[in-house]
Amino acid sequence: MITQANWICADKKIGQVCPEFRKSFSPKGKIKNAYVNISSLGIYRLFINGKRVSDYLLTPGLTSYTHRIQYQTYDITSLLSDDNTLAIRAGNGWALSDWYWCYTLTPDIERRIRVIAEFVIEYEDGTSESVMTDGSWDTYTSPVTYAELYHGETIDYSAPIEYIGKAEINTNFSTELVAQVGEYVREMIRVAPVKLIITPAGEKVIDFGQNMAGYIEVTRKGKVGDKISFSCAEVLDKYGNFYNANYRQARSIVTYISGGNEETFKPEFTFQGFRYIRLDEYPEENVDISEFCAVTIFSDMKRTGYFRCGHDKINQLYSNIIWGQRSNFVDIPTDCPQRDERFGWTGDAEVFCRTAAINYDVEKFFKKWLGDMRLEQDAVGGVYGIVPAVPPHGQARGAGWGDAATICPFEVYLAYGNREILEENYEMMKKWVEYIRQAGDPDDEYLWVGEFQWADWLAMDAGDGIMFGATQNDLVASAYFANSVDLCRRAAKILGKTEDEAYFADMYTKVRSAFRAAFIKDGMPTIYPKGDAFATNRPVKALTQTAICLILRFGLCEDNERAALADKLVELIAEHDGRMTTGFLGTANILHALSENGKTDAAFDLLFQEKNPSWLFSVNRGATTMWEHWDSMNEEGDFWSTNMNSFNHYAYGAVYDWIFGCVGGVKVLDNGAGYSEITLEPHTDKRLGFADCSIKLRSGETLISAWRYLDDGKVRFDFTIPSSTVAHLTLPGGKKMTLKGGEYSFIE
Ligand code: BGC
Repeated sequence: MITQANWICADKKIGQVCPEFRKSFSPKGKIKNAYVNISSLGIYRLFINGKRVSDYLLTPGLTSYTHRIQYQTYDITSLLSDDNTLAIRAGNGWALSDWYWCYTLTPDIERRIRVIAEFVIEYEDGTSESVMTDGSWDTYTSPVTYAELYHGETIDYSAPIEYIGKAEINTNFSTELVAQVGEYVREMIRVAPVKLIITPAGEKVIDFGQNMAGYIEVTRKGKVGDKISFSCAEVLDKYGNFYNANYRQARSIVTYISGGNEETFKPEFTFQGFRYIRLDEYPEENVDISEFCAVTIFSDMKRTGYFRCGHDKINQLYSNIIWGQRSNFVDIPTDCPQRDERFGWTGDAEVFCRTAAINYDVEKFFKKWLGDMRLEQDAVGGVYGIVPAVPPHGQARGAGWGDAATICPFEVYLAYGNREILEENYEMMKKWVEYIRQAGDPDDEYLWVGEFQWADWLAMDAGDGIMFGATQNDLVASAYFANSVDLCRRAAKILGKTEDEAYFADMYTKVRSAFRAAFIKDGMPTIYPKGDAFATNRPVKALTQTAICLILRFGLCEDNERAALADKLVELIAEHDGRMTTGFLGTANILHALSENGKTDAAFDLLFQEKNPSWLFSVNRGATTMWEHWDSMNEEGDFWSTNMNSFNHYAYGAVYDWIFGCVGGVKVLDNGAGYSEITLEPHTDKRLGFADCSIKLRSGETLISAWRYLDDGKVRFDFTIPSSTVAHLTLPGGKKMTLKGGEYSFIE
């Protein structure tokens, strides 16, 4: 806890330089134990006697700053000697960045970096003392002469360190300080440069071969004042020139100035999304690329899932999905790591959540983010498009976005079997559903109509260049309403809340029948005449791939309507030359909708599709992460747009939960959360050759579902079932059995 320390700031005359707050401290006796609780509005780094304390990055992390800020606790016993300098260096971070500060903290909060720390020293004689941030601390400039999370950073080792004056106690900001909840962000993977490119425009560009989030470390011995300055990009344009117009206002420029020594530079208060850097300034004519190294940073989650198959392009797709997660799980789930957003868009996180929880252990990561979601849920239960909020962006409570409130806790529960995540978020889940009910059609509280929706965002069925899909907003919204009510019912059941379970079961029946009355006619989606009040300028269609997917997946059709709907879905795909027209929401559901309804072959066909739109289209164009648009870069090498065109958006990477759940066939049952009880129903396809899906469970054991085609055309299945897992196996030939802890092989 931080109980007595003050928030302190540097005098404004420090300008853009990142301040360093210092205090000398000499212990009174023999130290038994010493620790510090520390935080900031901005990002801080702590040094004791010049040595950095901890390798955590971007602390105190991104939270809903007006509600809470995390503090970190470090054991500093071994770092203290007889005379000590405690130093806290700080930068703007998210909180005071051009985006978060301008939209969230302003106008009440002055835009100044603040730090707060309480050092507690316990002596062997049983006494103790505290050193707190207050007006006695000194402030100095630091080598970080500029830092803005989105714009970049300048580190100048030639700049003199100047004394600014005593710290000012700041009283116009307060928030709740809470102990670290989430995972720590760390340096995770180092990527060496692949090559230096001299572009047709004459630019010197270094290619790291992989799109990522992180920063560039430069190690070299320079002369005083030697300057290296570079800009970041994810792609080159069709002529091979450097291109980063898609970063919009996020400048992402990093500058290192030498103090004349052998030095290692890397940003302290920023990170970038990039694959390429353009050297805008470099002190010599010839560039030694071995001085450069890309360092990826992300939340230090434990890797759990692995996948390999006999199809190179699908393997590359999988790698892109993993890199999409690495790049966007930097303290919160973001839409993208490069442009002037990097926001916690709830819809993106919702569609990707199951995949995320297969790839990595994300429980702690989501626990923190969902905590901010709870704090930001409004009085009527609304959950917004972005968490932590960045009004005015994401100011809608959209279907498939706000539904992260029900979907994410449930998925995280299923993945790890820890009821705590459901218990913590259950009230939020319920309130979200009540929000939808009151926001519904005034004539029918069980429909969600008439509100702004992103709906099937970025679908391709409304026409070129239109970001909203053709599926009716109200159909999408009401379908998600049903799904969220059902998730509340399932959560109530798991938590033993019998009355709630009955309440939500009843509500689901009502939502479902209202949905059917409004949106289904003769077993097919139909236009709801009263709907889509906010329809953006676009053609709205009854029969879309996404409409059918949602109806099938959320149980909104009768069983005897399924076959015709699935046939129709296949027909719509065929009409579109074997391709999808789906956006964020439809795409996350389409392969499941097919394979759960007897159309697994059609699902595989879509997976292997290479023409735009398809997952392999971007792979063929050399993508190393997932793209925001199917055709972020089209066949001709032209860009979709400058405005909304990220090459590192993980949402379409949600396809991995289908690969794992259908190709590997592993699905967790509600009463088997944490993989204690699963269905195991692998589906094979010759084009894949073999598939090997695995996931490491909390117990340390690994669950494996693998199959391979043999020379005689038969398929060999190999399963490793952890000792605490019961697996209900169904082989493609129909053979069923229950497997418990052990290794099993079958050929059929
Ligand atoms: C983001 C998306 C997000 C969307 C909302 C975009 O700017 O990048 O990924 O979900 O807005 O429609």
